[in-house]
Amino acid sequence: MSKKWRITDRTRLLLTLELAIILPAASLMAFSIGNLHHIQRDKAIEAAIQRDFTSVLKIAEKRSWIKATEMLAPLREEFPCTGEPAQVKRKLESILAAHPEFLYAVLFQGVKVDLGKEHFLKDHFLIWRSQPARDRDEEFQKRVAELVNVPAKWLPAEAPDLVEKLGAMAKKEEMPFGFYGFWITQNDHPYYWNIAYFVPPEVSEDSPETSCSGGASSELLTLGFVAFDPDYLRGTFFPAVMSSVLASKSSALRSDANPPVMMVHAPKSSTPWVSSANWDGGKPEVERASMDVFPDIVFAIKYPGTTIDEISARLLRYNYLVLAALSIVLAGGIFLTYRNISREMNLARLKSDFVANVSHELRTPLALIRLYAETLELGRLTAQEKYQEYFRIIREESERLTALINNILDFSRIEAGRKEYDFKETDLAELVRSTLDSYRFQIEQNGFAFEESIASNIPPISVDREAIARSLLNLVNNALKYSKDQKFIGVSLYRANGSVKLEVRDRGIGIPPNEQDRIFEKFYRCGDPLVHNVKGSGLGLSLVRHIARAHGGDVSVESVPQKGSKFTIALPIDPTA
Ligand code: ADP
Repeated sequence: MSKKWRITDRTRLLLTLELAIILPAASLMAFSIGNLHHIQRDKAIEAAIQRDFTSVLKIAEKRSWIKATEMLAPLREEFPCTGEPAQVKRKLESILAAHPEFLYAVLFQGVKVDLGKEHFLKDHFLIWRSQPARDRDEEFQKRVAELVNVPAKWLPAEAPDLVEKLGAMAKKEEMPFGFYGFWITQNDHPYYWNIAYFVPPEVSEDSPETSCSGGASSELLTLGFVAFDPDYLRGTFFPAVMSSVLASKSSALRSDANPPVMMVHAPKSSTPWVSSANWDGGKPEVERASMDVFPDIVFAIKYPGTTIDEISARLLRYNYLVLAALSIVLAGGIFLTYRNISREMNLARLKSDFVANVSHELRTPLALIRLYAETLELGRLTAQEKYQEYFRIIREESERLTALINNILDFSRIEAGRKEYDFKETDLAELVRSTLDSYRFQIEQNGFAFEESIASNIPPISVDREAIARSLLNLVNNALKYSKDQKFIGVSLYRANGSVKLEVRDRGIGIPPNEQDRIFEKFYRCGDPLVHNVKGSGLGLSLVRHIARAHGGDVSVESVPQKGSKFTIALPIDPTA
């Protein structure tokens, strides 16, 4: 019956654990793993980083626009719009001298003639001046002359459209600047030229002869051009834009300890023309061709030393590892909880067995005492021996009661941590002999062969007399209880390896090897049905062990089922003795 109770209880425990912990934990894990799979399949991490990178590049483009127009705005204010060629040249020269970041400046003018849908430009001319600081550099002069000649060819056709576009921008309150850019190969290296154009500001109505448009010459078109110094763009402008973008706190940059790196390159070449510090080569993750300010320029961005693929794989790996670690911790927790609860359940079962056993053990001697006392009271016995026998039985049963109650009291003191021992220098041989003497009669009465061997070389040891006597009685009592056909008890006291050993042997039912450790635990009784037919509390051996250890020694068992057992208490000899 007790077996059945245990199974149902354990099943209930398992069910509770499963419902309360394992089920929610497992579904959470499954959900997280599902999510991670989803993220992996959708490449969500890559997409998020790419989005961030794209927005960083957009910011870079925006900042280039702001920076370029901030440079151009004051320059445009100073720009001439008409006048004597020599005068214009001087003006252009002074502008270039004040703005060394530009290499040449051009003034273009023509009269627009409208022919219905068509229009053309007449009387157009172009005045230019290159950076005066480089007047002595003939090579440079030649190149600029070539560069200026190119737009001179297409400007008469394009100028009206350009002016119209700038006018539309001004109306929308945008900064009215246009740009065109192109790459040339110079000394085998690509060079990016960027030319900004604008309509010079109109002069006041008071001096219409110098007016660029309006008045009588309303068809007059004027455009100013300035060329950025490619070396300036490469050495100052782009590095400043890139470092300001990378230093700003955009989400892509903040989230990572490894800040991204940028570069600028020509559309047909992946070699960086300008790159931010610590650019480490390799393929950029995201690229963006600039549209407005720097046509034909590509901004590119990536993480140094790694790729987005790698980052997302790492992130996923990290998440899987965390999940695995969590599962292990959880499984460990569940296992520990399960073990603790089943231990508690076992203890509860042992305690209830204990109460049943103890009550039983108390009841039997009390019933016997009452029965014999009542018989004696009636005074009907004739034979004197009967009286003697009945008195003896009453004495023995009271002794058993006393022993049991002493065990329980000792046990409760030990449990409460209040057990105290009274150590005294003792002649162990004498103690063992006298303890056995008072028990010998009972042993022999039960039909046991009794063998006692006490060595003569036992030194005096400091022990608690009562405790040692009680340990011996517990062991002898067990030998009596757990023997069947082979009724034999042997007790030896001898000296070995610096300690004194007290040995109790029997040829009884023995103890299975897997239970030999556990019999010293409180309340533990072997599973053998034979044991359960014998009265016991499961406390005796746990007391023996406690007493032996309190004396600095220990108790051990050697046993073979059906052959017998040998319990040995080893007590260390006082080194000073
Ligand atoms: P109790 O004898 O009251 O059950 P103990 O603590 O003295 O409690 O012993 C614990 C268990 O060890 C016993 O229930 C029995 O199963 C086993 N045991 C103890 N001594 C012997 C022995 N001499 N031979 C066989 N089994 C023994």
